[in-house]
Amino acid sequence: MHKFIFTFLIILTLLPFPGAATPAPANPYFSWKTQNQAQKAFAASNTVITTENCVFSNNNSTLRFYNGRRKAEIDDVTVWLNVAPELNKSNHQWHIATIDMDLLSLSLQSQAEKEPAPLKIVIDPGHGGSDSGAITAFKDFYEKEINLILAKQVGKILKRCGLTVIYTRKKDTTLSLAERSAIARRKKADLFVSIHANKAANTNACGMETFVLTPSGYHGTSSGSPPRGWQIGNKNDYNNNLLGYSIHKELIKLENTMDRGLKRQSFFVLRETHCPAVLIEAGFLSNKEEVARMKTSKWQAECSHKIADGIIEYCRKVNSLNKAVAAKRKSDTEANEQWQNYLAQKRDKRIKTAKVKQVDKEEIPQLAAVSEKAIQPEMATAQTQKTKYAKVNITDSKQLKEAASPDLQYISSSSIQSVATNIYLKNAESATEKKTDNAGLQTLADFYETGKVK
Ligand SMILES: [Zn+2]
Repeated sequence: MHKFIFTFLIILTLLPFPGAATPAPANPYFSWKTQNQAQKAFAASNTVITTENCVFSNNNSTLRFYNGRRKAEIDDVTVWLNVAPELNKSNHQWHIATIDMDLLSLSLQSQAEKEPAPLKIVIDPGHGGSDSGAITAFKDFYEKEINLILAKQVGKILKRCGLTVIYTRKKDTTLSLAERSAIARRKKADLFVSIHANKAANTNACGMETFVLTPSGYHGTSSGSPPRGWQIGNKNDYNNNLLGYSIHKELIKLENTMDRGLKRQSFFVLRETHCPAVLIEAGFLSNKEEVARMKTSKWQAECSHKIADGIIEYCRKVNSLNKAVAAKRKSDTEANEQWQNYLAQKRDKRIKTAKVKQVDKEEIPQLAAVSEKAIQPEMATAQTQKTKYAKVNITDSKQLKEAASPDLQYISSSSIQSVATNIYLKNAESATEKKTDNAGLQTLADFYETGKVK
């Protein structure tokens, strides 16, 4: 049921609303916000536009978009968009995808409360047991070990702040991805935080990446990630975004790190977990310099604090976000209803027109037949009259021939004249009647065709 509503809403956002008069950007597959709509959604008090970027600022933050690039910035934090913004070169207007503007503006407008909401948080140290994960550049330890160290430290901090913490594993045990999501479901968790460390073939690669689930129908951040249909995790798109942004913003404050961005990917634990979820890739084990830092207890303590700070910030903002999301869903539902009504009205009108046309098709020939029948006796009478006068004409001509005296000739002649006049008048009358009947029939047909008398 949820899945259907969501799919519908997504389709709805892809459809141009009737009456919307926005110039179409290059890619009509996506729903867009115009520059003015985006400014309004973000409550921007200042906007700076160049041919390369579009910058909105309000009292709290600054958004920077680049033409044709999915990489964007919120203040100094890198955030990967679902769709690259487009600058319409003909009218110098920017277009930002509705999905990105909705996710960003709701996250950024959430108000922090003093106390964090007392959420139940599942912390998931990635890999474990027979699944070691990546090995360090020095081949001295495995990813599963550092994931567990960080997870335990994050959990301790959260517990101290009054939050409930559940671990998917506390030891070096093997656990499938499905089991990890199932633990969150069974324990009725409010949040799922998966902790990993990165690796790459390029040993220079370094820095922090934070992942949330890709919204349904959009490409993931890594090139070649195909769009997917609706997943259970997509019901939390707004919360996922706030959670990911809150954590990533803190993580990149670590010394000597690099901001690789808040990214979007359909990882199993993100798409199959029922509650808001995030997956952190905290540094590259394949980079010798970075892993040397990651091995130190100083780094581990700082990194755990940053992750915990981000989670706590989410917990402080979640009530405000949930209210905004509920209001947005309500207005989306209303827009959905309006759209359905519009379609239903169009359909009803089509059915009505088709029905009238059908009735006319059946009735006009019937009416024509009835009218034809009514004319028949009139026509017959006219024919009889014609025959009658023709006979008189013949009799009169005969009489004329037989007349000897000029007087009789004169009398007969005027008699013929008068008879001929009578015939002429009768014929004219009958022709007029016929014409009137034909015109009547046409009017009747017009009336049924158009519903109007001409
Ligand atoms: Zn991993």
